[in-house]
Amino acid sequence: MRFSQSTVFAILPALVVARNQGQQFARQHDLNARQNPATGSTTTASVPVGTSASSVSGTAAATPTLATTFTFKLDATNPTAVPLSVINAAQPSSVTKPLDSTAVPGTIPTFIPNAPPLPNAALLNPANYPVLDKVPPVDSPEVKGWIDEVTATGIVIPSFDPTQPGGCPNNTAAVADTSRCWWTCGGCTRSTDVTQCPAPLNWGLTYDDGPAPYTSNLLSYLDQTNLKSTFFVVGSRVISFPATLQTQFLGQHHIAVHTWSHPSLTTLTNEQIIAELGWSKKVIKDVLGITPNLMRPPFGDIDDRVRAISMAMGLTPVMWTRISPLATFDTDDFNIHGGITSVQQVLQNWENILGNATTMSNGFIVLEHDLFEQSVEVATGYILPDALAHNPPFTIKPVIECLNKNMADAYIETNDNSTNPPALSAAVSAGVVTVTSAPASASNTSKSSAVSGQFNGAGLAYMATVIAGLAVGALLSLPF
Ligand SMILES: [Zn+2]
Repeated sequence: MRFSQSTVFAILPALVVARNQGQQFARQHDLNARQNPATGSTTTASVPVGTSASSVSGTAAATPTLATTFTFKLDATNPTAVPLSVINAAQPSSVTKPLDSTAVPGTIPTFIPNAPPLPNAALLNPANYPVLDKVPPVDSPEVKGWIDEVTATGIVIPSFDPTQPGGCPNNTAAVADTSRCWWTCGGCTRSTDVTQCPAPLNWGLTYDDGPAPYTSNLLSYLDQTNLKSTFFVVGSRVISFPATLQTQFLGQHHIAVHTWSHPSLTTLTNEQIIAELGWSKKVIKDVLGITPNLMRPPFGDIDDRVRAISMAMGLTPVMWTRISPLATFDTDDFNIHGGITSVQQVLQNWENILGNATTMSNGFIVLEHDLFEQSVEVATGYILPDALAHNPPFTIKPVIECLNKNMADAYIETNDNSTNPPALSAAVSAGVVTVTSAPASASNTSKSSAVSGQFNGAGLAYMATVIAGLAVGALLSLPF
């Protein structure tokens, strides 16, 4: 399917401006310094047949505020890759591929023992869910039920207040309070956070923010190369693209939670966090029949309050690898779409990630996205072909499998709890959270009621503009 160029311009700039506020919130350092090359790392300087050197290691198009000189060299590219000179914020939209297969309701996902039959996605009624791309209300019967379930676990939710929008500069007291273990400002993690794969040269492949129109193009390439990925999906996007999610799932990709509306979770009240995670879990179960037990916080924005709520809801947080403040394994691919970064810079970031990854004694997890065309094109045209040609070879797997678990372990209903303890049990055992012997008092989950209604401006702006974009998409008869 092809967007008309005028439509593309109508949709995309708004998305970008809004999302960038979130990016600025979560990311405090210079884009050009996102990745420090590993000392002494080497890269192969081969250029694939049929690809000119200038197309893989050249000069970025005019982007005055960004670096224009790059040193990356790719081991391989996809012969059908969209040229680097074309991948930018202003590019006309390319064709979206139809899904390779369409799921049939009732199909038994035999690759997961004891999984239920696939529901009929056509029966999904958006009227039964909250407004898309907004933090759901907390007074619905569903959310009240989930709040009660969290309370019943006895989880002790740290009582610190939600953070203010604006990130670290706007939250000096919270930043100074290291007991929060706030990843956004300092990279703090707990032992239960998944941040890497155990074995060296193992890459836990992940894509966030879909399902979306270009997810099918990514799936097509993954099928061609027999790669499986983890997809951290946004509940609101699942409402819009349930058939895509079913195809991802039946294609033996790993599905995990990325909230309902993509807010910065630390800015929300406890009840709002429960609503975000609860509705996301519910819509995924309604479409797939089973519920993920891994989650990734949007923007990586997590602290011990968000961790406690997540794990009380059966969701283990998954981050991306971060080995120093200037070496997070974030390609920044999301920002090509908005012209905030260039595709060349993303490939430079990728090469720097590779330099670090190949010197580590463990494997790694990289942040990439499938929401926008540009991110998919840099993945399928350059990053994945380069990774597949890498020497020594990488073992590329979904996160659940790089953790030496199987796909059944990735879902609450099919998890073998004896070998893969549920999130809350694991967190209690690790001393990351505590539970009271009796059900927690209501104050544990309602402590922050006084700040209910406090939203993250960046997240809300993102949501509003996604709605705007999808509304235009609806007019184009996108495969909702
Ligand atoms: Zn995201």
